[in-house]
Amino acid sequence: MNMNYTAEELAFRDEVRAFLDAKLPADIAAKVKGFRKLSKEDHQRWQKILSEQGWYATHWPEQYGGVSWTPVQKHIWDEESCRYGVPRSIPFGVNMVAPVIIKFGSEEQKQQYLPRILSGEDWWCQGYSEPGAGSDLASLKTRAVREGDHYIVNGQKTWTTLGQHANMIFCLVRTNTEVKAQEGISFLLIDMNTPGITVRPIITLDGEHEVNEVFFEDVKVPAENLVGEENKGWTYAKYLLTYERTGLAGIGLSKAALTHLKQLASRQVKNGKPLIQDQTFSQRIAQVEIDLMAAAISNLRIVASVEGGGVPGAESSMLKVRGTEIRQAINDLARRAIGPYAIPFVEEEMDQAYDGEFLSDPGAAPLAAHYFNNRKLSIFGGSNEIQKNIVSKMILGL
Ligand SMILES: Cc1cc2nc3c(=O)[nH]c(=O)nc-3n(C[C@H](O)[C@H](O)[C@H](O)COP(=O)(O)OP(=O)(O)OC[C@H]3O[C@@H](n4cnc5c(N)ncnc54)[C@H](O)[C@@H]3O)c2cc1C
Repeated sequence: MNMNYTAEELAFRDEVRAFLDAKLPADIAAKVKGFRKLSKEDHQRWQKILSEQGWYATHWPEQYGGVSWTPVQKHIWDEESCRYGVPRSIPFGVNMVAPVIIKFGSEEQKQQYLPRILSGEDWWCQGYSEPGAGSDLASLKTRAVREGDHYIVNGQKTWTTLGQHANMIFCLVRTNTEVKAQEGISFLLIDMNTPGITVRPIITLDGEHEVNEVFFEDVKVPAENLVGEENKGWTYAKYLLTYERTGLAGIGLSKAALTHLKQLASRQVKNGKPLIQDQTFSQRIAQVEIDLMAAAISNLRIVASVEGGGVPGAESSMLKVRGTEIRQAINDLARRAIGPYAIPFVEEEMDQAYDGEFLSDPGAAPLAAHYFNNRKLSIFGGSNEIQKNIVSKMILGL
């Protein structure tokens, strides 16, 4: 495998760097690099800049306004954008429902929804999980019953990320209870402003409102909002999951987090010396860096195989497990680096504009919250235990 970029790829990297130097707002990059919370407005402002550049929809064919980057170009974008502090795209519209609409949706659905995703008019959320259906998603119970030209939807979704901002939700619903679980599921697009929908916040360990419960009570959904065929939703859901899992390894994010960790550990003092010179701590950093380098090479192997026409298979599961373990290990070391100052939660210090006195290092305030928030990495997108099941079956043949 040739590990060097070609001249064209290097030119593309220069173009990416020039664009980010010129267009990435400094306040947004500072928030991303400092692990501070981004507002809805921050996301929308950056999305508009990316859309104007034509670089927002990297998974779409050009005919719908996408950009046809090669796997290596996508990799370069990922590496550079993490290094610069670009916000992660909220994936539910652009990277999840859009590929499903493009592949299985009607012409009307393509015309109605794709331009609104590109322009940022619609904010989508994902209605898959339910209180009794997470890893075992096919057991979902939210019911949709066809009545004339409508479906009547009743049930509950949960863990709905950023559902409080969304005006659209794509849902898996049960349309047939008589058949095998997977064969009675349909894929519905639902306007969040329809009467009968209630969104309730779930406040997580870090004190944030990122996820929600969504309740449906006799919600009337036009039949034309069904994607593809009734009872074929499981096929579309699985197609979407291949997009959801792409990039979950977060190698670029881990590299940026490692740089941040080293800077933080250089500023902290232990026994009169910078913490980064402490033997035990520096060994821990070295170990996680070695793990990250190994994962980065595995990631490149997959990029090279996809570039050569292959399809990412169970290797993505392996990378998701290793990648998320590494990121959680880096978050843990950052929390340890500030020691007891990770305990107090001073909300004002989390604000970018705070100009009062800091309890400790000005970068310390979000670290514990970030550590807690990223416990999610090994749960969502298919928990790490489920990924290990896939690896043991598909790669190890057990
Ligand atoms: C922060 C966050 C955001 C999320 N956002 C969304 C969203 O926007 N939309 C959405 O639809 N869902 C979302 N999810 C839900 C997520 O997909 C589920 O949490 C995940 O699929 C796990 O399901 P569960 O929570 O029901 O746990 P369960 O499936 O009940 O699993 C509990 C534990 O058992 C283990 N386990 C389960 N089955 C097996 C098995 N067969 N073998 C070995 N171990 C097993 C799991 O790994 C886990 O450790 C989000 C979750 C989190 C935490």
